[in-house]
Amino acid sequence: MAKTAIPMVNLRAQYLSIKDEIDEAISRVLDSSIFINGPEVQKFEAALAEYLGVKHVIGVANGTDALQIAFMALGYEEGDEVITPSFTYAATAEILGLLKLTPVFVDVDPNTYNLDPRKIEKSISARTKAIIPVHLYGSPAPMEDIISISNKYGLHIIEDNAQGIGAEYHFENGSIKKTGAIGDLGTFSFFPSKNLGCYGDGGAVCTNDDKLAQKVRMIAKHGQSKKYIHDMLGCNSRLDAIQAAILNVKLNHLERWNYTRLNAAKFYNELLADLEQVECPIIDENHKQVFHQYTIKAENRDELQAYLQSEGIPSVVYYKIPLHKQKAFINIPNRKGELSDTEALCDKVLSLPIDSEIAEDQQIEIVNHIKNFYKQ
Ligand SMILES: *Cc1c(COP(=O)(O)O)cnc(C)c1O
Repeated sequence: MAKTAIPMVNLRAQYLSIKDEIDEAISRVLDSSIFINGPEVQKFEAALAEYLGVKHVIGVANGTDALQIAFMALGYEEGDEVITPSFTYAATAEILGLLKLTPVFVDVDPNTYNLDPRKIEKSISARTKAIIPVHLYGSPAPMEDIISISNKYGLHIIEDNAQGIGAEYHFENGSIKKTGAIGDLGTFSFFPSKNLGCYGDGGAVCTNDDKLAQKVRMIAKHGQSKKYIHDMLGCNSRLDAIQAAILNVKLNHLERWNYTRLNAAKFYNELLADLEQVECPIIDENHKQVFHQYTIKAENRDELQAYLQSEGIPSVVYYKIPLHKQKAFINIPNRKGELSDTEALCDKVLSLPIDSEIAEDQQIEIVNHIKNFYKQ
């Protein structure tokens, strides 16, 4: 019997494992024919708020909208500066350009892939208003340092938690907070392949601030304070009821799925431990990581990737071109710190298959191919 190919993310296997619950939830929405807002959306917003330990969750259409609406709610002026990594998905800084804010790109720590707190302060100016920590690959950014810098300079923190839902930051004073629920605002994506993915597009903004929550809700609904009363310019960004119903089912499985991902990451690290051409991601026992991606640094990365592909093993480079080198960002006003670690990472990183369904024998097969490549 031919072996089934290993996918990067096995959405179908995950669906089949919860098929009855999902099918029932979708037919419930079809039966109610309440497709926009309504009880499923309210239930999900409340459930996610409770899970995160935060006062307000507002469902929106996707993770990019979540970021854009969060920044619209903060009401910055044209030319205000926002500190962001360059080593992230384009959406993080794209919305800054669209809102005529200035992204200030700061380098990441090559060991953690997250903003390097030692390099943030040098990039702060009189116009700096906020920092966007991105909990990249599902590992918490160094929030303790980021909070102390933001307190010192009076900056907002907007967490891009598209990749980090369920991760936890353990503070030195013993308190534990879920990523996304630490800063002034947190943003989430429910794109299908994210750790909590729906079956289409979805996103959310969370905050503990009542005023910001109200503003986010208004902006996502055409700036309406009451029906047909528009107090400000907004947009149309809704989490639809079918997606919310799916997320209500899947949120109950998230802890277990994230645990599977963490265990898979640990197993990869064991399997790859004696391979000197590969540097494994750090498993940080002080915090809780959720391994949205399992990302190695590999010698001869492009050749390795081509070899794996020829052997039927998928892998992805997140990210090949840093944002400060993308054409889109060269044409908007931006500021760049020294980004040598970011640039070096772009030539080395390779993400291997990881999800809630991956099996040990698949990981062994993947690593055997990696070992064969370096033996050649
Ligand atoms: C996926 C992602 C987004 C955007 O989410 P969408 O739902 O695709 O709009 C933003 N930031 C990061 C870091 C992401 O990984």
